[in-house]
Amino acid sequence: MRLIFLGPPGSGKGTQSKILLEKFGIVQLSTGDMLRESIAQKTPLGLEVQKILSEGNLVSDEIVNNIVSERLKKEDCSKGFILDGFPRTLSQAVALKEILKENNIQLDAVIEFLVDKEILLNRIQNRAQEALKNGLPVRSDDNEEIFTKRLDEYFEKTKPLSDFYKKENLLHEIKGDNSFEEVSKDIENFLASFLKH
Ligand code: AMP
Repeated sequence: MRLIFLGPPGSGKGTQSKILLEKFGIVQLSTGDMLRESIAQKTPLGLEVQKILSEGNLVSDEIVNNIVSERLKKEDCSKGFILDGFPRTLSQAVALKEILKENNIQLDAVIEFLVDKEILLNRIQNRAQEALKNGLPVRSDDNEEIFTKRLDEYFEKTKPLSDFYKKENLLHEIKGDNSFEEVSKDIENFLASFLKH
């Protein structure tokens, strides 16, 4: 199973990915997690992108394309993967197409999570409060100002990808503002019917 999860921040891509990983024995490739990891490790890349992430801006296409291109070559991707948070621009989508072609990898589907902006803002406030309540760190880009910026970035630069993937006959839309269980069920049903064909 080789999937892209497309959707705004807070739409549930990461949480829903985790369920499928166990079920299908595939890996989650989250460019956001990879970048945060390099920041935590204080690698040269981490030092370079730290400010960009904290301000809610997008890292350059060149950087993320390289990260994904290298990551997809690793053995653990051979059973399948979910790309979460990549591609985020049309140019990344075009680069990904090329990377997949070079590595003889066929994408199965792009699942787009459709969620209302108001709901996303509520969710992110709850996510921060929950983390605080449980003594966990709150993501520095999960405050309202930066989150709104990330949402604007999404609707300006990433949303056009749904048309791109519609034309490629890969897009499947999911109502992401339903409950976690309902969204999970919708994805499961889609994948089951997909696997049958
Ligand atoms: P995420 O965890 O997916 O919400 O990503 C967190 C942050 O990492 C984003 O706000 C961007 O600054 C950066 N980032 C993650 N993926 C990408 C990408 N595909 N292109 C550019 N920047 C990205």
